[in-house]
Amino acid sequence: MKLLVDNKTGILNNYYFQTLCLLYYPGEKFPTLSDDSSNAAFFKLEEVKSDNIIYYMATVRLEAGLRYREAQFSSLDYKAVIDGDNEFFATLALGKAFLEAGKKLFGFSMPWGYIIGLRPVKRARYYLEHGYDADTVKRFFIDDYGVLEQKAELSVNTALLEIQMLSGVKNNTCGLYISIPFCPTRCSYCSFVSYSNKKLFQLIPDYLEKLKRDLKQTAALLKELNFSLGTIYVGGGTPSILDCNQLEDLLGTVEKSFNLNNLKEYSFEAGRPDTITADKLTVIKSHGVNRISINPQTTNENVLQRIGRCHTVSQFFNSAELAKKIGFNCINADLIAGLPDDTEENFAKSLSDVISLNFENITVHTLSIKNAAELRFDPDKLYDPAGETARNCVAYAYDKLIKQGYNPYYLYRQKNTVGNAENTGYSKAGYESLYNVLMMEEYSSIFACGAGAITKIIKKNGDNEHIERIAFPKYPFEYLEKDSDIGKDKIREFFKG
Ligand code: SF4
Repeated sequence: MKLLVDNKTGILNNYYFQTLCLLYYPGEKFPTLSDDSSNAAFFKLEEVKSDNIIYYMATVRLEAGLRYREAQFSSLDYKAVIDGDNEFFATLALGKAFLEAGKKLFGFSMPWGYIIGLRPVKRARYYLEHGYDADTVKRFFIDDYGVLEQKAELSVNTALLEIQMLSGVKNNTCGLYISIPFCPTRCSYCSFVSYSNKKLFQLIPDYLEKLKRDLKQTAALLKELNFSLGTIYVGGGTPSILDCNQLEDLLGTVEKSFNLNNLKEYSFEAGRPDTITADKLTVIKSHGVNRISINPQTTNENVLQRIGRCHTVSQFFNSAELAKKIGFNCINADLIAGLPDDTEENFAKSLSDVISLNFENITVHTLSIKNAAELRFDPDKLYDPAGETARNCVAYAYDKLIKQGYNPYYLYRQKNTVGNAENTGYSKAGYESLYNVLMMEEYSSIFACGAGAITKIIKKNGDNEHIERIAFPKYPFEYLEKDSDIGKDKIREFFKG
């Protein structure tokens, strides 16, 4: 789309303006040369000085085809719920003008106002921990950021639960992520790096050997740096694609290499029901895994086919029964709102199907159309880019799950999500996943092993936090070619330097 920015403030960069546009124009690109798109956005942001007062004036014009709308906002007489600096008021003026122009042009409000950050709960938690009460923080979200009331309530309630959870987490607690980037087939909405080509499965034995070496090195590093491992997450991909011997070998290595005395949670993603067997679940459980995910995404057979999951609804229910029988007492199921061909009625049915299983965790995602997803090139456009269905589904899920005794405990947003809706993890009391909270809130360091994985190291000093990311090679074949180093020197320097 065309983007024209006249920003005289020195505050906010071009990337910010682009990201803001994506709220109403999901999936758009911003080419620097020619562009034949009929969508366009024009922004003007000025800093005005008058009688020792500085304020910000924003003008926004949004276009879709031949239609356009404009809006202006001045921060001069605006009384913020929680006061902020110049950047806050410049962003506020711009955001409010943008939301008004967008609402006039497209006819709906953005659920998260002009917040473009992926972690709104982190913001809510910050203010709650700095002495503001829940009502003030809620008003701050609604009035200053233009967030819908239900989302403000969701953010504050999630933050309050996280504050409770995190109060018991020690400074030296960390998490471990183990990546198994292989899947039986590729789902059409998938943007993860995951091999689903049968020929590439030949790499799995070598991949596991390399992964075990990395795990041993990481275990030694955690010991050297005096970290206490609080949570492990085996994700992917689909880790349950491994056979029983491979699972035994991998999980046995984890058990032998790491000090698990302080481990509170050990999660394993058995995401695809078509990979689950009683024998595999027995091996997984025997190594101390106490939380698994079995993910239907929907319990509508047609939608499952449409998204290329290649498993059936009954396979999901059978796997769920199996997992309960084998004795897992914390099971999560993921659902996705806004899937192609899905309807609000179908989504409501999927949700009650999952609730009927009495799982401890239910995670409601919103479809996100990233560049790597096949669905992005879907000629029939069977998903709804404006996302009204997705917005209604996640709002419905919030009300329904709370009535059923589940509470939101972690939440994140992604770019290019249909309807600009969020992903929320719900839990019965006492079963909240620590890993998800530590990772999403950037509260503790997470050490990762395997292709596509990212280690995130965090150092805190009061309100200042220093975060660094160390990425493993993205694809399994690249990972196999690299030395088993995992950025150890950088990590040592970060913590010891
Ligand atoms: S199971 Fe998950 S990781 Fe694998 S292809 Fe489907 S969405 Fe991607």
